[in-house]
Amino acid sequence: MLRRKTLLSKYAELAVKIGANVQKGQPLMISANIETKDFIRILVEEGYKAGASYVFVRYNDEIVNHHNFTYCDLDVLGTVPNYIVEQFNYFIEKGYALISVHAETPGLMADIDPIKIQTAAIAQNKALKSWREHTMGNRTQWCVISVPTAGWAKKVFPDITEEMAVDALWEAIFNAVRVREDNDPVAEWEKHNDTLHKHNKALNDYNFKSLHFKNALGTDLTIELIPNHVWAGGNEKSTKGVVFNPNMPTEESFTMPYKYGVNGKVVATKPLNYNGNLIKDFWLEFKDGKVVNYDAKEAKDSLKSLVEFDEGSSYLGEVALISHDSPISNSNILFLNTLFDENASCHLALGRAYPMNVKGGNDMTQEELDKLGSNNSMEHEDFMFGSADMSIIGLTQDNQEVIVFKDGNFAF
Ligand code: ZN
Ligand code: ZN
Repeated sequence: MLRRKTLLSKYAELAVKIGANVQKGQPLMISANIETKDFIRILVEEGYKAGASYVFVRYNDEIVNHHNFTYCDLDVLGTVPNYIVEQFNYFIEKGYALISVHAETPGLMADIDPIKIQTAAIAQNKALKSWREHTMGNRTQWCVISVPTAGWAKKVFPDITEEMAVDALWEAIFNAVRVREDNDPVAEWEKHNDTLHKHNKALNDYNFKSLHFKNALGTDLTIELIPNHVWAGGNEKSTKGVVFNPNMPTEESFTMPYKYGVNGKVVATKPLNYNGNLIKDFWLEFKDGKVVNYDAKEAKDSLKSLVEFDEGSSYLGEVALISHDSPISNSNILFLNTLFDENASCHLALGRAYPMNVKGGNDMTQEELDKLGSNNSMEHEDFMFGSADMSIIGLTQDNQEVIVFKDGNFAF
């Protein structure tokens, strides 16, 4: 028990200092599933210890959400009251940093009509547009971490008791975020960030025109990269100059595809948990950037609602490279949580691109970004397609072929 307590404090301190990097006198907003409250109380205290002026916790309850979806009419689900919008405008105005504690039970919403979920998601995305642009544009520090819940743990480890499953999931998370009894995770993350930055630099120096992905499963996809793209990964800088880690864990180097330059087929290698539904064994076919055909063995309806969510959700907004031989991949655990699973495998995202993945992007208006071919959407949904036999060939601006990935791993 004492051991667990030490690790929890270390993890909370890591999220506050290296994740959101809360500044002295800065307010902090924590958004979390109510079931993670024991950890949140530790996190709040670490926030204050790091110098936060005020820590506000915004709890949600997925069982209550499920009741709402079951009993509420569509027009109720499709309405976001003004006081919620005002609350987020207040967070923007006061310069809040954000820690989002993601802990969802995969498949919880399987019995809910997808139209209801989509209606609520569209309403929320529209109402909180300014907040999304604020965080995705790195105008403040934000960080996503995860904490086990009983429901989630049992889905990952169905064959053991709930208590054992929660313990096993904690172990897996501590391992993924480099928190151990005998280490200083803050120092370890500084080292890890340096390694990721070295990878980004090599890819930025090549300045590839396009990447060609191929494996035995049927992926045969060419992705043109946006001119003046920037490979990023590891810590980032907010527009106010504060360094922070948006995702913990993170193993990826990622950049922006040219919206209209994606052609071929991609076969997913892990299921995708989308709005509480698990989409399994799926593939997508692209022509000039747009998804023109797709199928899934399970939850095809959910895949359809993702692809058809809005205009931009049928185009790509991110391409990310991760060696198959990486800590999360080697753990061989399917977390059923994108934050972890995306860091085990090369992935793509349908939907909005990160402005910082093009030079000067964070200072551009949406119109300027659109003109360059940066995808815009209310969605940003990652899905995994890396495999042990993935090959990636990069094409340089003067049409030289460079091996980027061989047998699933970085070749340089
Ligand atoms: Zn990514
Ligand atoms: Zn992503």
